[in-house]
Amino acid sequence: MSQQQHNVLILHLKSCRGRKVRVVREHYLRERVPCYSSVCQADCVNDGKVLPGDLTHYVVPDVGVVVDYLEILEDRELQGVVFTQTACQAVQHSKGRRQYNRLRNLLKDPRHDCVLFANEFQEYSYCPREKGESQEKWQTRCVYSAAVWYYNHLAGMMDVVMITEDQEAVAQYSSLNSGVYVISVQDYLQNFWPQLQAAHDLYGSISQALQEKESEGNEREFSEHLPAEVLEAGIKSGRYIQGTLNVNKHRAQTEAFITMEDLSNKNTDMSCGVLVYGDKNRNRAMQGDMVVVELLPKSEWRGKVTALTEGQGDEKSGEDESKPLPTGRVVGILQRHWRDYVVTFPPREGSQSQSRNSQRILAVPWDRRIPKIRISTQQADALQDHRVVVRIDSWESTSLYPNGHSVRVLGRAGELETEVQTILIENCIHVPPFSDAQVREDVCPSKTEPHIHVGQQLAERRDLRESHLVFSIDPKGCEDVDDTLSVRSLAGGKLLELGVHIADVTHFVTEGSLTDLEARTRATTYYLADRRYDMLPAVLSADLCSLLGGVDRYAMSVLWELDAHTLAVNKVWFGRTIIRSAYQLHYELAQAILNGEPTEVPELAQLGSEEKDTKLAQLTQALEMLTHVARHLRAQRDRGGALELEGVEVRAQLDEERNITALVPRQPLEVHETVAECMIYANHWVARKIQETFPHQALLRRHPPPRQEFFNLLVESAKARGFTIDTRSNKALADSLDQAVDPEDPLVNRLLRMMTTQAMSEALYFSTGTQSIDQYYHYGLALDRYTHFTSPIRRYADIVVHRLLTVAIAMEGEVGPVKALASNKELEEMAQHINKKNRAAKRAQKLSTELFQCLYFKERDPQTDQRCVADAVIYSIRDDGMLVFVPEYGVKGPVYLKNREGQVVAAGHDGSCEWQSGSVRRYPDHITTASSCGSSTFRLFDHITVRISVHSTHCHADRINLEVISNRPYHSTEPQQPRSQGRCQLVQEVVRLAEEAHQQAQEKAARRPKLSREEREFCQSKTPNLYSLLEEIREEALRDLNMVPQVCFLLYK
Ligand SMILES: [Zn+2]
Repeated sequence: MSQQQHNVLILHLKSCRGRKVRVVREHYLRERVPCYSSVCQADCVNDGKVLPGDLTHYVVPDVGVVVDYLEILEDRELQGVVFTQTACQAVQHSKGRRQYNRLRNLLKDPRHDCVLFANEFQEYSYCPREKGESQEKWQTRCVYSAAVWYYNHLAGMMDVVMITEDQEAVAQYSSLNSGVYVISVQDYLQNFWPQLQAAHDLYGSISQALQEKESEGNEREFSEHLPAEVLEAGIKSGRYIQGTLNVNKHRAQTEAFITMEDLSNKNTDMSCGVLVYGDKNRNRAMQGDMVVVELLPKSEWRGKVTALTEGQGDEKSGEDESKPLPTGRVVGILQRHWRDYVVTFPPREGSQSQSRNSQRILAVPWDRRIPKIRISTQQADALQDHRVVVRIDSWESTSLYPNGHSVRVLGRAGELETEVQTILIENCIHVPPFSDAQVREDVCPSKTEPHIHVGQQLAERRDLRESHLVFSIDPKGCEDVDDTLSVRSLAGGKLLELGVHIADVTHFVTEGSLTDLEARTRATTYYLADRRYDMLPAVLSADLCSLLGGVDRYAMSVLWELDAHTLAVNKVWFGRTIIRSAYQLHYELAQAILNGEPTEVPELAQLGSEEKDTKLAQLTQALEMLTHVARHLRAQRDRGGALELEGVEVRAQLDEERNITALVPRQPLEVHETVAECMIYANHWVARKIQETFPHQALLRRHPPPRQEFFNLLVESAKARGFTIDTRSNKALADSLDQAVDPEDPLVNRLLRMMTTQAMSEALYFSTGTQSIDQYYHYGLALDRYTHFTSPIRRYADIVVHRLLTVAIAMEGEVGPVKALASNKELEEMAQHINKKNRAAKRAQKLSTELFQCLYFKERDPQTDQRCVADAVIYSIRDDGMLVFVPEYGVKGPVYLKNREGQVVAAGHDGSCEWQSGSVRRYPDHITTASSCGSSTFRLFDHITVRISVHSTHCHADRINLEVISNRPYHSTEPQQPRSQGRCQLVQEVVRLAEEAHQQAQEKAARRPKLSREEREFCQSKTPNLYSLLEEIREEALRDLNMVPQVCFLLYK
């Protein structure tokens, strides 16, 4: 270490809450501070990320630029950014922790070409503050000095540009001829990045928002938030309560609840949270913010509204509100949960007298829980009817609305692409195309080199290519095969060996590589109704890792040696293998082979008949053995209380212009269950292995038992039909659900299972060190330990588990030094990240399903098109209506019996319904309307006829609207098309349509320009592995009928 100079600095800083802070710091100046540049000739110790040398320049942003325009610097296309320590500290002090963390993450992320220069420790770049110099001027001088140091340090080999919004600084420093260019952000973007439209747009909207902020009035609309120390003291003393704000999306203006993380030890009054009523009490807090509330006096407590309809709550509050809840007001916000929001610019109303250049618009967020956001823009007219991404900058107590700026335009509202992008952004899903750098760096060091070096790997892997008949069973056309199976008889038939062989993704995806980081960020492959976004680049998911037939592939295998008679496990082997899958079967083919139906196995097509027969017999025997083992495993879990569900999936099919052409079902086959059971078994055994090896830092998946009170609706509803549901254990629940069958109406059981789903908790990943062993239990699968191991191509959790298993195996064999593992805390953070992303993936899936349902019905006229009329079943009774399920389309929603004009639905003698003035009365298991025509009753589980239409709102997602048109079951008026088999009927018809459309599309395709690379990449219509669907369905999809992958509607036995 070279000579150090020692200073004592006293800094007077202004904190983000406006307080002056005095910081005393010992300050060491050094001659050598790393420059992190690859063109450095001075032997700096540049550990970690360095700036490349093949750039035209490095850019050093001034403090004001980093504080106000960080978003622009976050653009991955901006390269060679040097952040000074001065600027970083300024962000920390003036913008708070959230923004500072963003900057730190940016600096850490290898995908961004930026580094931190500790300019205040560098002897020759540091400049002490002069007497009378303002803090801003001094900071700018520091940054300039740092820029000059870079220029000199790199011996003029790299141009250096300093960007600042301080016009005086531009004038002053430009004239110094130091070799450093000093220009404004706008000039910089225009000169160096003219093609980077996104950055230019951002600059425009941020600078406008900053200008507007200065010209704001100061009349107070809300009370000030209390300072952090007052909040902390208040929480400690119990005067205030801390929690997360959740806005009721049906009553977004008025109702929000504070949910507390740990309420176990305290007030049971608070178990349903604290109600925050009205926007003054909410005091600028927004959905997801971590807030501090103060309870109001009991006299001001209120209940929540339970009616279906909006806007009627106030006048008859006594009748419609539940008992008063603890009610409070927000006194401070600990952490904002601001994200990117999609908004719509409202249609212009006549003459909004605004300045010509810019207009302040109240944009309406797509998410109903978010208040309107005030945006200043010059494009208000052009952007009408468009969806735009915005960010919020501030919400002062003097402003009725938060202020924000636009980030980018998504497109016209109502168009499929715009709506799909909206769904992604609203769920914080970022799926940019994989960069070439990612693909190159990790996977293909050289294009000519083969990727699978069997020879090199033979020493480290068990070679199963000759010894094992390995095959895969997937949906038709599946490209990413991540699981294969094998089964064989050993010891003259006394033993059976079952094998599950999973794609060895971690062989190719090195921990910490660019691909790994991207996969970790995504955490999962995202399946929407019409497309998917892969977690891994296609070269891995569809080729190198994919266990395709007839080629050598690396695998992670689990081999069980079972007693052929009892199927008890003798021993288990885990390890890396080389396999060559002999057959790439699809479900229907595998089932046909099992059923002994005549089949054509493509792999055998070229063989002579004798050889063909032998091989087919071999395969058939293997499939039969597998089925036998799976049945046994299934029965074992059933005895433990696994919940039985069966799914039929309906998937929207789109033609090349993305019009819906079909809803295609897949029939459930036993072979689905067989594959699923083997995968569950492998996941279970790997969970045991890693948990035993790493009791405090293994990634497992638990499914907590549901809370008993969530079963109330289920139990009450079943009782209305004369069934008893026993919810004391999963076994009792599964058994009583099996008993609750109405021979007249199979839907009753289905609906009961649907309600069971809604009572379920969510299955979660966790690190074993964070929970006691009794919490590891997987309720839905009835297993004491469970994890995800079998789908590393599309789930990051499985990649983590593969790495853990690899270390566990290495420790056993004592093969060299073992790699350091993630700590319990790190692993738990990872688990939470993956859980969060999985929730987002499910929400996006559900929303895209609803989007497609709406698209399907939007094109039809509900008054004339018979497809818009369908049978529905009542599954819940509410104050002014009921919730129904439309089995034919898998749609759930409210049916109102009373409208805003006070009219009620009255059924005539033939059951047909019309609106008349009258009243409505709710009972536990039915609801009655009374009018001059007499009374009509709607009971739980009654079948009624509804008309399906689409309610379009400009600013939000379209919604399916259900209207009762008869209180009798639906009977088709078209005798030739019996609708009793509505689903099959519909399916047949749409399949026909799909075929037609496909033909047309093929004809068209010849005349149309080809899809761009990006479009091809994103317009993938491949289906996810069906096993995964089944498994998800089993595990948790029962939660909500709409939450199933794809446009997937469940049928329960
Ligand atoms: Zn250097």
